[in-house]
Amino acid sequence: MTTSATEATAEAEPSNEPAPIIALREVRKVYRSGSLEVEALRGVTLDIAMGEYVAITGPSGSGKSTLMHILGCLDVASSGSYHLAGEDVSDMDEIDLAEVRNQRIGFVFQQFHLLPSLTALRNVELPLVYAGVPREERRARAAEALARVGLDDRLDHRPGELSGGQQQRVAVARALVTEPAMILADEPTGNLDSRASAEALGLLDELCAAGRTIVLITHDRDVAVRAQRMVRVLDGLIQVEFEGAA
Ligand code: ADP
Repeated sequence: MTTSATEATAEAEPSNEPAPIIALREVRKVYRSGSLEVEALRGVTLDIAMGEYVAITGPSGSGKSTLMHILGCLDVASSGSYHLAGEDVSDMDEIDLAEVRNQRIGFVFQQFHLLPSLTALRNVELPLVYAGVPREERRARAAEALARVGLDDRLDHRPGELSGGQQQRVAVARALVTEPAMILADEPTGNLDSRASAEALGLLDELCAAGRTIVLITHDRDVAVRAQRMVRVLDGLIQVEFEGAA
């Protein structure tokens, strides 16, 4: 044996790094329509740690939405693996994926996706309805989440009675209410004016400071630089990864 005792110990030492909340390995996604095949992701490997704020960026057609759908368990990879919060979600059926989405992921979309006939409070309660949380607890948690985003005076307003920025804050409250493993924000400022965008990004900064894991998908570099780390997708591959300005 030529290896010294110190080296041997160093090799055997278990890593102190916490397990990543998101672990993608060699993820490929092939879309087939008729005889045409498009390989939208061509082998993506990516780890995201708990509490990280990561922006996924890249030009149109690069594969960002495909990656977002897989990260959000809205679709599954054609090959490769995906572990979310330690659970292998790669081969789950739609029923199990729906449960993972409800319990583990808080979604914030460009179009807000609020139900127009429901008040802000009821919209935020919805993920808890699906999770089977009793009514009183639901109400209390939804009100708390709305207070968290500064909308405690708008609980009974319907989306049509709120500004775009306020609607997006309701969507953030709805994303938070289940205490998810990650917040997945897909172009969250895409429908907002510059002031409301700044507010929404400020809110994400606060959530990050409070220890939330945030994955932000955007084509807008000015938005992406707010994150701690930027992951650039190009032609179905992770091209460059670099630290953001934050
Ligand atoms: P981005 O979000 O960066 O614009 P996408 O993930 O939407 O990129 O698309 C990546 C590639 O996959 C593109 O070439 C696109 O045309 C193709 N693609 C996306 N969705 C589908 C689909 N459902 N069927 C066939 N091809 C698709």
